[in-house]
Amino acid sequence: MDFSLTPEQLAWREKIKKFTREQIIPRTDLDICNHFPMDLYELAFEVGLITGAIPQEYGGSGKTYFDLILAAEELGYGDLGVATSALLMKLATGALLAFGSSEQKTRWLKTLTPKLTFASHAWTEPEGSSNMLGRPATTTATPVEGGYLLNGIKSTITNASVASLYTVFARVLPEPDGLTCFMVSRNSSGLQVTRPYQKMGQRASDTGEITFKDVFVPIHDRVGEIGQGVQIGMRAIRASRVGIAAMAIGVAKRARDLAKVYGHTHFASNAQALIYQQDFRLKLAQMEAEIEMVRALTWRACWEVENGPEGMKFSSCAKLIGGDMAVRVTNVAAELLGAQGYLQSGLIEKLVRDAKVLQIYEGTATIQKMIIADTTARLGELKYK
Ligand SMILES: Cc1cc2nc3c(=O)[nH]c(=O)nc-3n(C[C@H](O)[C@H](O)[C@H](O)COP(=O)(O)OP(=O)(O)OC[C@H]3O[C@@H](n4cnc5c(N)ncnc54)[C@H](O)[C@@H]3O)c2cc1C
Repeated sequence: MDFSLTPEQLAWREKIKKFTREQIIPRTDLDICNHFPMDLYELAFEVGLITGAIPQEYGGSGKTYFDLILAAEELGYGDLGVATSALLMKLATGALLAFGSSEQKTRWLKTLTPKLTFASHAWTEPEGSSNMLGRPATTTATPVEGGYLLNGIKSTITNASVASLYTVFARVLPEPDGLTCFMVSRNSSGLQVTRPYQKMGQRASDTGEITFKDVFVPIHDRVGEIGQGVQIGMRAIRASRVGIAAMAIGVAKRARDLAKVYGHTHFASNAQALIYQQDFRLKLAQMEAEIEMVRALTWRACWEVENGPEGMKFSSCAKLIGGDMAVRVTNVAAELLGAQGYLQSGLIEKLVRDAKVLQIYEGTATIQKMIIADTTARLGELKYK
């Protein structure tokens, strides 16, 4: 086991740390203005963040999966919304990279790399996301000559309003169930994107809805086989969930640091700084221990997804424990800062709001537990009876 980073990894992490410090942290508009800060994403594109998941042969910056995990932690420290939107390419192109033909990869990925461009992963429907495996998808693909006609709605889709390419999961008719994966251009006739949703947090990230009305998708834009969509979707999301755990570490570190600064600059009734009060210190210690626990789990999950036999289980463990940890740590930090933890000016309240969705998107905590239980609850071979 070697936890040390290579000189290249250290340099990359330093680059993203600098980007976070100089370009994200000073921005006071990210939360309150409710807009998509395209200028900031342009800068993120320039440092290689937006296309990090795309290999260099297609024009991307070709970062390793672990590089992206390191970047997620740094960006999460700065702004979770920016982290979500800037790194979404990993999820949005995951299906294409793992299951697309070389012709499909070349044709689509090369459209995403010459300039700032976004892609989305369109799985969720207004009827639900967690239940997509247990009910017929309402987004359908009707076979027609040369391709399919897509009809339906995909809701709460990250980067929907700004993306030029969508990875869409739909049910091929007349099948009663099953999912099939398609690459769909934003320019397709019949495709409409509605205005982004207003959200509790992560407001620098775009979340929108896509409507398909007889959208023609040529047969060569179907990824994988008919009915292979669940396998394809799960493969993409298991890698992305580990990124969420890394973002959780970032936001928790930010909350911890704000609490530390407050503790050093505010005093208890015994005239000593709060940082010397036992309760304050023990809360900080608990935060630190939880942050380290999630990082260890996240790095292991990253390794498992790429090399090990237990990628699905570990990515769900990291997402579950990471999301819960971020919510807990930001909430404890809010208490430690007293009124400042509740006021907008104190920043912690934003971190609390931003962190909440880490427990929800890409599968709620309950869904992660169900995935983990799938392997853990198997009887297998017991040593002791
Ligand atoms: C900001 C944001 C960005 C998003 N981005 C994307 C995106 O890019 N692409 C995309 O496809 N989706 C996206 N989503 C959707 C997200 O993945 C889903 O909201 C999430 O998976 C939860 O699904 P749901 O909303 O359908 O809730 P539901 O699945 O309806 O869950 C509601 C509640 O029921 C519980 N529940 C569900 N099933 C069971 C069960 N079998 N047993 C017990 N309890 C259960 C859940 O845990 C939860 O508490 C995004 C959502 C948000 C908020």
